[in-house]
Amino acid sequence: MAKKKRLKDLSLLEQIYLPEIVKGLALTMKNMFKPSFTMEYPEVKFEPGASYRGRPVLVMEENGDERCVACGLCSRVCPAIAIEVQANDTDKEKERYPERFEINMLRCIFCGFCEEVCPEEAIIMSKDYELAYTNREDGILGLDKLLVPVSELQERIQFLRKYK
Ligand code: SF4
Ligand code: SF4
Repeated sequence: MAKKKRLKDLSLLEQIYLPEIVKGLALTMKNMFKPSFTMEYPEVKFEPGASYRGRPVLVMEENGDERCVACGLCSRVCPAIAIEVQANDTDKEKERYPERFEINMLRCIFCGFCEEVCPEEAIIMSKDYELAYTNREDGILGLDKLLVPVSELQERIQFLRKYK
């Protein structure tokens, strides 16, 4: 083990930490001119890839209908008990639709289980990561905030079809 130098054994320069200060400055100068990887958020937005799991959203078909058939599987599988679905009957071919669908984003842990279990590809993990609420009620998202046009979710849907 290297023996520690006592104060009286140090030179004057060592006593005022000059060699260490010079080493530190040299390191700073070396890194100062390297390219920076820091993103100037929020002026510059991060664009995630298709594998990214942001907030879960519901698929809205081109005719404006929700794709969800209110089977409740996503709600049952959700480990955070964040999803509430209330089903009702409809005359349309799918027979059932979600009269009420809520995701409590204060509970969601972005696990993606809801997306995995859905038999209809109706709930999708979006790229939306900008989640900030000023009160608890705003963190509970209803159909009005959950429905996203299918055309905007194509990248993730194609990704799921490839790897599911
Ligand atoms: S991502 Fe996970 S925690 Fe969030 S709603 Fe879906 S199943 Fe629940
Ligand atoms: S989103 Fe999918 S799993 Fe959840 S209730 Fe609708 S159809 Fe069923």
